[in-house]
Formats: sequence, structure tokens, C-alpha cells
Amino acid sequence: MIHIIGGGLAGSEAAWQASRQGVAVTLYEMRPVRPTPVHQTDRLAELVCSNSFRANQIENAVGLLKEEMRRLGSLVMRVADETRVPAGGALAVDRLRFAQGVTAALDQAPLVTIRREEVRDLSRSGDLREPVIVATGPLTSPDLSAAVAALVGQDHLYFYDAISPIVLAESIDRTIVFRASRWGRDSPAIEARPGGGAACGGAACGGDDGQGDYLNCPMTEAEYRDFYRALCAAEPAALHAIDQGRFFEGCLPIEVMARRGEDTLRFGPMKPVGLTDPRTGRRPFAVVQLRQDTLAGDHYSLVGFQTRIKWGGQARILRMIPGLEQAEFVRFGMIHRNTYINGPAALLPTWQSRHRPSLFFAGQISGVEGYVESAASGLIAGLNAAALARGRVPEALPRTTAIGALGHYVSHADAADYQPSNIAFGLIPMTGDVPRRRRDRRRAAANRALGQIAEWQAAREAPDHPHEDAPPPVSGPSPVQSQSVRAHRPRV
Ligand SMILES: Cc1cc2nc3c(=O)[nH]c(=O)nc-3n(C[C@H](O)[C@H](O)[C@H](O)COP(=O)(O)OP(=O)(O)OC[C@H]3O[C@@H](n4cnc5c(N)ncnc54)[C@H](O)[C@@H]3O)c2cc1C
Repeated sequence: MIHIIGGGLAGSEAAWQASRQGVAVTLYEMRPVRPTPVHQTDRLAELVCSNSFRANQIENAVGLLKEEMRRLGSLVMRVADETRVPAGGALAVDRLRFAQGVTAALDQAPLVTIRREEVRDLSRSGDLREPVIVATGPLTSPDLSAAVAALVGQDHLYFYDAISPIVLAESIDRTIVFRASRWGRDSPAIEARPGGGAACGGAACGGDDGQGDYLNCPMTEAEYRDFYRALCAAEPAALHAIDQGRFFEGCLPIEVMARRGEDTLRFGPMKPVGLTDPRTGRRPFAVVQLRQDTLAGDHYSLVGFQTRIKWGGQARILRMIPGLEQAEFVRFGMIHRNTYINGPAALLPTWQSRHRPSLFFAGQISGVEGYVESAASGLIAGLNAAALARGRVPEALPRTTAIGALGHYVSHADAADYQPSNIAFGLIPMTGDVPRRRRDRRRAAANRALGQIAEWQAAREAPDHPHEDAPPPVSGPSPVQSQSVRAHRPRV
């Protein structure tokens, strides 16, 4: 028997996967007994905002993630495909039919029992034969949040998300932007930076001609004043009632900071002190700093630029920053209510808790971002909880698949500065011959990942699978992942 708390995208997928393994599941969903501030119905897997599951092509990371899920028998993907509405290259759904389809499938699943009640503690999570999956999402109820905080540590549970925009490295104009750390203080690991200034020289690296951990976009006074006026005039995204006007002073949106005074940003995230533009030999009037966001060095985030400006306006205003005129955005800035654990401090790549191996986290609370990512984590947590319940050893997928890369990210990213992430090719390591063209690179990575999914599935189903019938350890080291995962433990 498995207990799954939360019947959203992650919990519904987990229940489907576990029950398909022949394990009985009880799925606890608190709606309609206890509503959340954003859900409108009592259906399982309700989409709280957009009706889009984003891009559908495998050359896009979230498209690959979806395809991997389809191949692993995902309920969420099956119903999404069945309830699809026209949306160009994206997969968008009729939200009511989608939630209805998932609810009906689980209602009819013989091994799934749905209980409409709020779970307030983790008392059922001590038994390896009766694993528990916490999939209560970004709006986890307060009592259960307190229980999770007690388990993972108060410092490792967050309630808000302030997200800075991320741009594609190759869309940054390196003839304007310069590499430097404030006061020349680099991190000790600078030699290891892929394509980084210290390890490679100037023109050979596309104009990346300095040393330092940051890329810096220098602004003249006139450019800063124009940028400031555009920020103050920008339209914020519509707010849910739960998010109205409650900001932490430490992570104010840039437009809120700007409205406090014309020079506030210049003395805050855009301060130029300790930086000299090598092209002028002078300190710029203001600077926007970009920090490498992926180990591969293909994504950079705008430091301290969390914002609630509407995405269209955000792109227009951020492209006013010198060097970002042609920027391609991998992710826009956001601030929203979000309950999530510090994955690297709390989770294994199998989505098991480091503190209690019989306890899994899945979905947004596990530290992923997005509908598809939440459902994908539920898929693996469901399979692994079922494995544990059957006396087998939970496994992670190879890191070179999109699902495996997500598991690696939540369990290995920098715990000191953890931020939930969408899936991105920057999280999936390239191996072997790497094609030059981006589209070819992505297609090669996607084809390899899909091949590995097939192999992984075949190995799990093989009668001589080495992990089958392994006795579940009752104490001592946690029943973790396969050897292949232990061999891949570099930090993200
Ligand atoms: C306001 C908002 C808008 C978002 N918009 C988007 C978007 O447009 N696109 C996107 O990709 N992502 C979006 N997200 C992020 C995320 O993808 C969704 O929140 C997604 O639904 C997460 O899936 P989940 O399964 O983790 O959580 P949910 O889908 O929220 O499911 C969690 C379930 O757990 C239940 N629950 C909570 N506490 C308990 C308890 N103690 N006992 C029993 N049940 C409980 C809840 O009622 C809920 O049904 C948004 C998030 C928020 C907060």
C-alpha cells in the first residue's frame, strides 16, 4: 500500500504509475473539504492558471520531457493528448476535460482509493512497505507545511519564489558585455568554467575577453534614465489574491525598487562599484550583472532582477539593456507563492527523502517548476514508491534523459542558492560527438535520451533485473539509486 498526499498533477500521475505496478494506492485530496486559494473545482489534476503544457517538439527540453513520459505510460500525457486544443507548436488542453479525464481514470482504477481529506502530518511515512509520497504542491496546507519543515529543517522549506529572468548565452552581445567580478574577486573554481574567460583567451571565445565570474552589461547615464522610465511605466502581471502586495524586503521586484527613487537601482542590484569597463577604462554609470546559470554555460540569469512585469513588456524592457538587444529568454522573471523544499539538502535523485527513505516528495513542493515537470517527478516517485512497497530498490533514470536530469537537478544543485527549475537542455549533459548547430545538438540529445528510456524500461521489466526482490533495508544506508546513478555525482 502506498499513501499519496495531494491529487494534483504530481499526485495523480504517481497514483496511476504505482497502481499500474500492482500496488494499492490511497490518494488523499483535501478539496473540496478544504479549498486552496486558487483551485476552482474538486477535480484531480486541476490546472490552476495557463492551459498550456508548453512546447511539444523533442528539440525543446519540455517537449522531450513529455515524450519520455508518454513512453513510460504517463496518464497526464495521455489525457493531455486526448483533450488537446489548437496551440501551434505547444500542447494546450481543454482544462475542464483534462481534469475530468484524469479524475475519471483514477476513479476507475481498481487499485486506487481516493479519500477527500486533509492530511496534517507525516506519521504514516515510517514504513518502507507503505511508502508515502508528499505531492501537495505550491499551496500545501499550513499544518502539513509545518510537518514538512520539522522533517527537512525550517531553513529548507520556502514559501515564496522570486525568479530572475534567464537568457540564452549565445544571444548576449559579447562586443558590449564584459566579463569581470566586482573588485576582481573570482570564485576559486573559475578555471573550470566551461568556455569561461579565465580558461580561454579573448577572440577565440567569441569576444569573452576578461576574467571573472560575471558578465556585465554597462550602462551610460542616458541609457540608465531611459531604462528607469520604462521600468516605472511597465504593467505588472495580474496577481492572484494570495500574492497581492506581499514582498520580502530582500527580494523586491525591480520595478517596485525603481519606484522608490530614480537612483535606488543604481545603489542596489545595478550598482557599478568595483567594475571597470575594459572598452572605456572607466566605471559604468550602472551595470546589470549576468551570472552563469547552468554548468554547460549556455544560460545566464540577470542577478537581482526578479520582476512581475508582464512577459511581453519584460522582453521589451530587458532588451533595452546594452548587450541584451537580441536576447532570447529561456525564462522570464516571476514572483509567486510557492511552498517548496530545498531539494539538494533534502532529496535523493530517486525523489526519496534523505531523512526518511520511505518518504518521497514529488511535484512543485519537491523543488521543480511547471506542470509537466511536476507530473514527471510524480511519475518517477510513483514507480519508485511502488518498487519500495514490493521490496525492490528505487532507481533514478540516467542523467542524460530529461526526467533523469530533473532528478539530478533537484538532488545535486547548489543547496546554498537553490531555485526551482523548469527542464532545460542546459541541465542535460551532452556526451560524445557534439554537433555544431543548436537544433542538431538538441535532436541528438533527444534521440539518445529516448533510446535510454527504452533501455531503462526494458531493464526494469527483465526477469533477471539485478534489483528485483532485493530485501528492503530496515535501517542503515537508504535504499537509493542504481549503480549508474552513483557513478554520476558531479554537482550541477
Ligand atoms: C498561482 C499559480 C499559478 C501557476 N501557473 C502555472 C502555469 O501557468 N504553468 C505551469 O506550468 N505551472 C504553473 N504553476 C506552477 C505549478 O506547475 C503548478 O502549481 C502545478 O499544479 C504543480 O503541480 P503539483 O501536483 O505539484 O501541485 P498541485 O497541482 O497544486 O496539486 C497539489 C494538490 O494537493 C492538495 N493538497 C494540498 N495540501 C494538502 C493536504 N494537506 N492534504 C491533502 N491534499 C492537499 C491540493 O488541494 C492540490 O490539489 C503555478 C503555480 C501557482 C501557485
